[in-house]
This record gives sequence, structure tokens and C-alpha cells, in this order.
Amino acid sequence: MDLKALYMYASVPALLLCCAATFIQSPTDVYGPVSLHEPTPSSARDFGAVVSDAPFAIMRPDSAADVALLLRALSSAPPRPRATVAARGAGHSLQGQAQARGGIVLETRSLPRAVAVVASDGDGGAYADVGAGALWVEVLEECLKAGMAPLSWTDYLYLTVGGTLSNAGISGQAFKHGPQITNVLQLQVVTGNGEVVTCSPTESPDLFFAVLGGLGQFGIITRARILLQHAPPKVRWVRAFYDSFEKFTRDQEFLISMPEQVDYVEGFMVLNEHSISSSSIAFPAHISFSPDFGSHGKKKIYYCIEFAVHDFQEDDGSSVDHVVELVSGGMSYVRPHMYSAEVSYFDFLNRVRMEEESLRRQGLWDVPHPWLNMFVPKHGIARLKDLLMDTVLAGHFDGAVLVYPLLTDKWDRNTSAVVPSTPDGVMYIVSVLRSADPSRCGPGCVEEILEQHRRVADEACRVGGGIGAKQYLARQPSQAHWRDHFGSSWDRFAARKARFDPVRVLGPGQGIFPSTD
Ligand code: FAD
Repeated sequence: MDLKALYMYASVPALLLCCAATFIQSPTDVYGPVSLHEPTPSSARDFGAVVSDAPFAIMRPDSAADVALLLRALSSAPPRPRATVAARGAGHSLQGQAQARGGIVLETRSLPRAVAVVASDGDGGAYADVGAGALWVEVLEECLKAGMAPLSWTDYLYLTVGGTLSNAGISGQAFKHGPQITNVLQLQVVTGNGEVVTCSPTESPDLFFAVLGGLGQFGIITRARILLQHAPPKVRWVRAFYDSFEKFTRDQEFLISMPEQVDYVEGFMVLNEHSISSSSIAFPAHISFSPDFGSHGKKKIYYCIEFAVHDFQEDDGSSVDHVVELVSGGMSYVRPHMYSAEVSYFDFLNRVRMEEESLRRQGLWDVPHPWLNMFVPKHGIARLKDLLMDTVLAGHFDGAVLVYPLLTDKWDRNTSAVVPSTPDGVMYIVSVLRSADPSRCGPGCVEEILEQHRRVADEACRVGGGIGAKQYLARQPSQAHWRDHFGSSWDRFAARKARFDPVRVLGPGQGIFPSTD
């Protein structure tokens, strides 16, 4: 049976299981050069653990050519029924975005993951060519051997290059360098039509910009060329506590106005003692901030700014001391509650790994994660904070709430990523991060949290008169919601789909382009 015929069967659910059971015993015999495998439990699971859509099969490609073979076969198959393909990197999506019900999950981790560091391309630029299935921690380890590192990060490094470039990839460096999607020089992409294309801002730029932040809709990224800089051996990591949201955000904006001095800025809400202890697992300095959180009904909350300065140890760290002194002199934290620690650059970037290990020990890693992430324009950030206080944070809350500013002019509007309009150029990322184990929070708690987040997102993202926020990393419930999400860039997004994946093979788990609409 050839691949075309297979996919006529593959979308008929009744035949799926029997076909899979028979064929998977020797997939290469059945599928010729494209080898598929029986689905694994992880192919129908992600970090969010709220959506579980089983695929028909998984594919572990050895090369871009393998990916091209599959996509060419599928895109030229008869119109209906046709199987779909979802790229799966590390599977850290929240709502099934890397899943393909009844289709094929293509595991990008099996692509070559070698990291080739080129310290200079002759113009003084340095870059790394990396396989899209490489984890950022693997990229970091390899680059550090050459004393180099990418400029822009995510907080957690066990995510794939292809996965974060399909979203945006942000962390505390993004105010200075932009998101990860603006630090890419070139991509190798296999389009939905099965064409292997090398693209960049000057070579096939339409595909290059479509795929960045493109939610896996236009092609499978197989390689990426990432911009590098010299890596500092160490980082001075500083935390300062606040009792006023207004002072907290004002000081964050002060810090991001000093990209020459400051290399990283984030922040989080301090909701209880646990907020301090859980966020301090990797932070090596002792924190003696133990404020009054008030009694029930009169809750008091606090805030913590986190910033970092790269330490190249040019003169025994004194220049870093000078920068921290200069910067902190202009800040309005609750004195004396500023703490600092010197850590290796690797440990600083890999700090969330320790939180992961702690959550694993508590049995809170492999449980549902109903998260809410939003980009909020500066003018709406105080209202958004009040909205969270009246809803998500009104009752018992276990989790973390990150709040930190980004500069929209660091985002390239040619990419497919969506950010809000901000007249002053400042937006905040607000992330409500929760682990919800139904055996502890009760049956139905995950759905209740999701519903609560939906109401907050609806209010914050409401078109006209709302806060004007945009969700990040979310799966919208319908195409109408996706249109609202993209706003004026919807037409461009839809045109990109029609051009690069006209028969809608890719990215079914995002629910943007249903195969029958
Ligand atoms: P997957 O979940 O495997 O895939 C995500 C999407 O990208 C899917 O639609 C998939 O089909 C598509 N895709 C994957 N690979 C490719 C490819 N090669 N080509 C085309 N499409 C592809 N994000 C941030 O920006 N900043 C953070 O600090 C941050 N921290 C996080 C911490 C944790 C603990 C977790 C779980 C997530 C975090 N994220 C963060 C979100 C993360 O960036 C996204 O979920 C990202 O997609 C994860 O990468 P992945 O390899 O797991 O992707």
C-alpha cells in the first residue's frame, strides 16, 4: 500500500487501530522510505496535560528530506480524507498544540541535533547552526565551549529551538535583544507542500517571517542559525522587594531603559511566604524579607524585581558592583530588602531546572498545568493586576505570577507573532503559572481554573474598550477567536497559510484552520 492509499484509511477512525496494529510491525515495508511508528503515550500528551488527542502514528525523521517526503505525499493526496501532521519538539505546549488527532506526530528531536558554532562570519557576527530539535540547554552547552551564547532566552531551557521559534521565546533578556524570533539569521524549513527551503530576511523572506511565531502552521523548521554573543563567565543576580505595584512597575521600566548596564529584567508577585521560598530555590543568597501578608479578607501582597548584570570579571567584579550600586540607587524598593548573588552564567540561565526538580519531588510536574500568559499594554497593566486580584488571586492560589516589561519595538512586525498595540512601546508579559493535581485540589479543579482563566482572558483581550491584551501560547477555542487574536494581521496569516500549506496538513493542534470550514 502506498502512502496516499494509507491516508485514505488513516482518517477513517474505525480502520485506524487495525491498520496501525498490523502495519506498525514493519513500518518500512509498508510505507516504503517513510517510516512511521506506533504512537507512544507522549505523542498524545503535553506539559499542560489538559488535552490528549491520539495520533495515528509518529514519525522520527532522520533528515529534512524525510520530512519533505512525508509532506509531499500528504499534500498531494486526494482532498478528503487527509491526515494532518504536528511537529512535536519537547512537547511543552499547554493545550495540545503539538498533537494531531488521527494524524501524524513528527518528532523533531530525532532530526540531527548537532550545534555548529561559527565564532565570526567575517563581519564580526557570530552564530550557531543548530538542529531544530535541539534543546536550548544543549545549544547553550555547546556554545559555551566556544565562549559564546545566544542573546535571547526562555526561562526554562528544556524546550526545543523549533518549538520556541514557533511561538516567540521570551525571558528577561527580551527587553534588550527582543524575543528569540528576532535573533535568528536563517532557517531551513520544509513547507506544507514538502519543499525544503533555506530562508532568511533576504532569501525567501516571506517564508522566513511567516514561520517565526507561526505556530507550526507553514512549515517544519529543521535547522536554525542563531545569533551569538560572548558569554560572560558569571552573572550578578539581584532581587529587590516592593510593597507597591506602582513602584514595582516604575522601577522595572527604569531598568529596561538602561540596556547598556542591565542584561536581564523580570519580576513576580509575592503572594505569600511560599512565593519567596519556591522562587528562591536557585537563588543562592539568603532572603530575610518576611512581610505581613495580612489576614484573610485583608490580604496584602508584595512584588519582587529580579535583574541581572553580566560579569566579564574585567576588574575583579568591581565594575559590576558599580553598575548595581548605580542602578539600585535610583530604585524605590522596601529598604533594605535588596539581595544579590554571583552565579555562573550557565547556572543563571538554567535556574528553572532546580524548580523543576523540586516540583518533581513534590509530584507537581507531571500533573495538569492550566497556565495563562498574556501580553498587556503598559496602560492596562494596573487594571490587569486588579482583575487578577479580583478573580484568580481572590481565593486560595498555589503557583507563581510573573510580571515584567518588554519593548515592542524589539519585535519584528514581519513575523507571525502577535503583540498588542502600545502607543508608548511598552508591554508586560503576565504569566499565571499553576500546577493542579486533581487528587489534591479536587475533581473538576482543572476545568474550574481553565474557566476562570478564560473569563480573565476574555475580559483582558476584549476587542474595543478592554485592556487590549493578547494571549501568548494559548490555543483559541474557535477560528473566530483566532481572527480576533490576530486582529489586523489575520489576513496576512491566512494568506501565508494558503501559500505555504494550502491543503492544511500542518499544525492541527492549534485549531486555527479546521480542515472543513
Ligand atoms: P512543542 O510543545 O513540542 O511545540 C509547540 C508548537 O510548535 C506546536 O504547535 C508544534 O507543532 C510547533 N513546533 C514544534 N517544533 C516545530 C518545528 N521544528 N517546526 C515547526 N513547528 C514546530 N516560553 C517562553 O517564551 N518563555 C519562557 O520562559 C517559557 N518558559 C516555559 C517554562 C516551562 C516549564 C514550559 C512548560 C514552557 C515554557 N515556555 C516558555 C513555553 C514554551 O516556549 C513553548 O511551550 C514552546 O512551544 C515549547 O517548546 P517545545 O519544544 O516543547 O514545543
